[in-house]
Amino acid sequence: MSSGKLVLFSGPSGVGKDTLLEVLTKKRPALQRSISLTTRQRRNGEKDGVDYFFVTPEHFQELLSAGDILEFAQYGKNLYGTPKKPVDEWLREGKTVILKIEVQGAEKIKHIYPQALSVFILPPSMEVLERRLRDRGTEDEEDLARRMRIACDEIRKSENYDYRIVNDSLERAADEFLTILDTTAIQ
Ligand code: 5GP
Repeated sequence: MSSGKLVLFSGPSGVGKDTLLEVLTKKRPALQRSISLTTRQRRNGEKDGVDYFFVTPEHFQELLSAGDILEFAQYGKNLYGTPKKPVDEWLREGKTVILKIEVQGAEKIKHIYPQALSVFILPPSMEVLERRLRDRGTEDEEDLARRMRIACDEIRKSENYDYRIVNDSLERAADEFLTILDTTAIQ
């Protein structure tokens, strides 16, 4: 049994998970963020090995066959997965590990680690979410519509999460997350 804490951090595309994670790791540098594998194209400004490990579908498949991926999910047209070894190691070292993960992946992890703490980040409204996605300007109309459809479905399923936090203000949402982390007994 591991001694660290595993935190599942979900929320619809465009809700501000990355920015929130940046604020969180600044406030609490000991938090360990897992870097996922993805087959999607790198966006402007994203760095390989920092935001994601960008891999080809073939390489993703090889890692999967080798048992090196803890969980994976298809999101839109692309695959996303959590590398297994680093997560196991960090948990053994007693660290608090945050997985930024969509809802299917979170459900899978809850089966493997039932003691994981799950937190879902909500937008203040669907209008705000759509505006944030549009302002980001990284998706075409088809992808944007797909992300909004997935968002509605994810928000419905967010009732299964241990906690839900509205990202109405970064500072406030970050502080709420840290309070939850500090007051919840998780392994
Ligand atoms: P994006 O393309 O916007 O970076 O990510 C799309 C979705 O994939 C987001 O909901 C994000 O949380 C999720 N995601 C990122 N990494 C992983 C992962 O390793 N596993 C799973 N299941 N979902 C992930």
